[in-house]
Amino acid sequence: MPSNIRVRFAPSPTGKLHVGGARTALFNWAYARRNGGTFLLRIEDTDEGRSTPEYERAILEGLHWLGIQWDEGPDIGGPCAPYRQTERAARHKELAQELFGRGFAYRCFCTADRLEKLREEQSKNHLKPEYDGLCRKLSKEEVERRVQAGEKCVLRFAVPVGETRFLDHVRGEVVFQNKEVDDWIMVRSDGTPTYNFVVVCDDIDMGITHVFRGEEHLVNTPKQVLLYQAFGKPIPEFGHLPLMLGTDGKKLSKRTGDTALQDYREKGYPKDAIINFLCLQGWALNGTTEVFSVDQLVSHFDVKDVSKAGAIFDIDKFQWLAGEYIRKEAHTEFAEHCLPFVVAAGLATEAELRARWEWYLKVATGEQERVRTYGELPPRIAYLFGADADFKWDDEATKNAKKHAAGAETLRAYDAWLDERLAAGKKPTELRDETKAWIAARGLKIPALFQPLRCALTGQAGGPDLFDIMELLGVEKVRARIRRGAERLAS
Ligand code: GLU
Repeated sequence: MPSNIRVRFAPSPTGKLHVGGARTALFNWAYARRNGGTFLLRIEDTDEGRSTPEYERAILEGLHWLGIQWDEGPDIGGPCAPYRQTERAARHKELAQELFGRGFAYRCFCTADRLEKLREEQSKNHLKPEYDGLCRKLSKEEVERRVQAGEKCVLRFAVPVGETRFLDHVRGEVVFQNKEVDDWIMVRSDGTPTYNFVVVCDDIDMGITHVFRGEEHLVNTPKQVLLYQAFGKPIPEFGHLPLMLGTDGKKLSKRTGDTALQDYREKGYPKDAIINFLCLQGWALNGTTEVFSVDQLVSHFDVKDVSKAGAIFDIDKFQWLAGEYIRKEAHTEFAEHCLPFVVAAGLATEAELRARWEWYLKVATGEQERVRTYGELPPRIAYLFGADADFKWDDEATKNAKKHAAGAETLRAYDAWLDERLAAGKKPTELRDETKAWIAARGLKIPALFQPLRCALTGQAGGPDLFDIMELLGVEKVRARIRRGAERLAS
């Protein structure tokens, strides 16, 4: 049912889309969808030094990729356009002027030097660093005189006395004493407005009813709530989403893992696994279901159920979850998803893979049970593409093969035996039982052949069924690799 709920995601295009930002977008979007509300995208590009159109494009593209659609935004417009903050500068000026005219803001001429001395003094006396309100007491005449004299000034918000409350769906009712809030700067001396000011101007003009954003903004909310009151506008409902923490318990950073959505996309985490995992950062479908769909998210999401405890971004769990999604994919879907990764790894071109699709499908799905991301596939299947001459054995496979003193001899004998069978037109997959009987007849245990053979064929310690691998490699490669393997083991 349609409702008046209006939520927004308001990224600053100063970097790639952070996983925390992606979660904020998802929660806002899910909340709007569940409640028949409107979800809008606003680009907060007022930090002109750090904002770039490339980052903006990348953020939009990342959200599109996740399947998040906005109802209003810089690319599609809407009734509150423009949705790019710098394009709203004239409106911000007008609103700053309005507050100034109504006495909610004052001009401050304090120099950087004075403010620095004030801070030093406060820190010496173990006081909170804050503006002391000196210019708040200036007479109208003096302000006018100094403006006329061309003195530089900023516009500060005049925090009133009293206490202020707001509703935070994650934390309950939040109460703060106004005296804890500094007379903060609304407009800098160069005329540019600050974040806390413009965010409220835009949220009011865009009719935002609910503000859900990261906990790092909780310190800003008192300043913003006071602004709503000054403007005489209703205070939106808030929800501050818990911080994402690295496994070291500190704020998620490059130290403990990738922080950009794009990094996980490039590593080949399935999109729905990313959505699922990001939602688990502070929210749960219920106490028991860890794997849930986007539809379930939309039909169940309520910001009231978001936990305020910091969420550990546990990469092991993320990989596990990604693997769960991969296992659920149909074989063809999985092969399609992996295809760009196989091409990017240089194993084959897309045309080559499509030309032998049935073969590639078997190659890919042979590993579907084992990989956790699409990006894990190429190194595991590279042996099927490479030439025999530059074919590498990894350490574990080599160690396994060398456990068997007679490995080279066993391989040679098996090669001779295989030669007859393959010449008689048998397929490798038809030789499973006969091979086992052959091993037993030589008084050996299975690994005595299988470990040197796997190493010779794949150079890897684990992988799909050996006979499936032989089929995929083709008779010629199989024979060449077994012979070379025997040589390498003997030397
Ligand atoms: N532009 C701010 C940021 O990227 C968001 C501010 C908000 O959501 O209120 O952190």
